[in-house]
Amino acid sequence: MPEEQRIAVPAEFDPEDEYRPEPEPEALPPAWMDGKIRIGIHTSIAGSYLHALESARKLGCNALQIFSASPRMWQGGPARIPELDASSFRSRRGELRLGPLAVHANYLINLAAPQPMLRTRSIQAFHDEIVRAVALGADFLVVHPGARGEGSTGQAISTIVESVKQAIKRVPLGGLKILIENTAGMGTAIGSRLEEVGEIVAGLLRDLPSGACLDTAHLFAAGYDIKSENGLASTIEQIERTVGLENVPVFHANDSKVPLGGRVDRHEHIGRGKIGKEAFARILQHPQLSPSAGAGVAGRAFLAETPIDDPGDDRRNVAMLWELAGLKQQAPEPEVGYSMLTPALKRKMAAQRSQRTRSSPRKKSSAARSKKGRTQKRSKMAMRARRRR
Ligand SMILES: [Zn+2]
Ligand SMILES: [Zn+2]
Repeated sequence: MPEEQRIAVPAEFDPEDEYRPEPEPEALPPAWMDGKIRIGIHTSIAGSYLHALESARKLGCNALQIFSASPRMWQGGPARIPELDASSFRSRRGELRLGPLAVHANYLINLAAPQPMLRTRSIQAFHDEIVRAVALGADFLVVHPGARGEGSTGQAISTIVESVKQAIKRVPLGGLKILIENTAGMGTAIGSRLEEVGEIVAGLLRDLPSGACLDTAHLFAAGYDIKSENGLASTIEQIERTVGLENVPVFHANDSKVPLGGRVDRHEHIGRGKIGKEAFARILQHPQLSPSAGAGVAGRAFLAETPIDDPGDDRRNVAMLWELAGLKQQAPEPEVGYSMLTPALKRKMAAQRSQRTRSSPRKKSSAARSKKGRTQKRSKMAMRARRRR
């Protein structure tokens, strides 16, 4: 150290400074924002939250998405996560250097609902989603914008913004960002147009950390031709004009079973659907979609939500993403033969499916409906029991 510098004293000395508390250290970016592409898949929390982390590791991911409770039931598990479970999850995730972690919200939530009852229920459920995501130390909470029903699109958009603001009341978000996902455009779903997603995000950004999660299958089904080189360029240009690429930290990487503009949400294995391998390579290697700061967004993730029809489909889709990103050599080593779907689980699910189709006639009688209610209650309890294990 040079002599002058060592003896230098600040020219301006404010005596008050002596009594002020030490300044907060500047927050460091999380370890996973290392400029490398982040690739992951939606992993299952069945059994325990920790299982999802181990699955992600065994599948060769460096990022992941989970549900924090059952996504198709209003009460799909505890509203709060016991702190012991949450803290062991956070520390294990740190050890595995998995990130970002996205939590996908329940599918029943409709933040755009014009009916007051459904809207109140949705805000409450979304509030619980936020509390659980914060407890797990998630980086992102992904939610579908909802359906407008009889209402207008404009009204729905302001309802969504208002609903999210109500849901975050009195929850310190920490590092959590709310991401609005684009949709395929089924029925009266909001968010199949990038303009709609952009409007919602702009409304939220005035008050809270937020952005968008863009699903490739939904973009394609909604009519954005990301398959062709020109179509991708024009879609990126439209993203830039509406949502802003800097507000898209996560892409859902899914191929599509339905053709361009099919307006139905049907995911396919990467490279085996209507979008195809060549297009995914273009997307994953596009400089503007990159995970490095500058042209892209630091730590940007591509997360698959592809079907698992056969054991190993999950591992193969993750491997395909690494390959098409041109980073096969850098990909974390998956565990040989691992899959979230074991042959035994596949047989069990097939048996459950055939039982369901046999026991549920087309028009459900009220007896059948109440039976369904009981089954839901039972599986809710089973899920809680599993969690406690
Ligand atoms: Zn989604
Ligand atoms: Zn998605």
